[in-house]
Amino acid sequence: AGTVTQDQLVGWLAAFRDAVHEHGAHLTELDSAIGDADHGSNLVRGMDAVMAAVQPPPDSVGALLKKVGMTLVTSVGGASGPLYGTFFLRAGAAADNATEFDVAGLAAVLRAGVEGVVARGKADLGDKTMYDALGPALEALDAALADGADAAGAVRAAADAAARGRDATEPMQALKGRASYLGERSIGHVDPGSASATLLVEALARALAD
Ligand code: ADP
Ligand code: MG
Ligand code: MG
Repeated sequence: AGTVTQDQLVGWLAAFRDAVHEHGAHLTELDSAIGDADHGSNLVRGMDAVMAAVQPPPDSVGALLKKVGMTLVTSVGGASGPLYGTFFLRAGAAADNATEFDVAGLAAVLRAGVEGVVARGKADLGDKTMYDALGPALEALDAALADGADAAGAVRAAADAAARGRDATEPMQALKGRASYLGERSIGHVDPGSASATLLVEALARALAD
């Protein structure tokens, strides 16, 4: 439980692919309320392309995650393609040529990814975006780490925080992305990207629990 392996990270990607298939219709329904009804189909297309691109897996975690990022940028488009793409590209750059991590190393890689999302999208907490799930997840991960949790326990705490962050987007008014065009009419709906970001962290928690 002390070490996170590259195989587990490939398992994470597969679990996220499965989750966007299972919940794609729901993600698209959320996006139909405050966007253009394509978030689920965007991520299904992107993660199918990702899983094809990482077989056989590249020989380091950095190469693996960079490949994921490039594939998402080129196959998804819209807002979420570049944002999730940047998450994985920055995470991959931080992972470099490592083939496994301890929990602190994993947290550093995920932090780099989330910082990439913020650098790219300029979202603040409370803007009703995927960052409202990813930011709290990262805080919870760091707090669990400081408490001495192992990787599986720390990422479980992060996934639970992401879900709370997702739920907290419902009463928010969107200030970034397509939903912001609706102004006050964006209030009262969960942000689709915060829902998919929760699936992303939840998928990692499940991959590390196996
Ligand atoms: P599009 O809006 O181009 O159709 P998607 O529907 O795939 O793209 O993704 C929409 C999601 O992208 C939103 O729900 C939100 O979470 C996220 N998003 C949009 N703009 C930003 C931004 N500037 N920063 C962070 N996340 C953003
Ligand atoms: Mg959309
Ligand atoms: Mg779109």
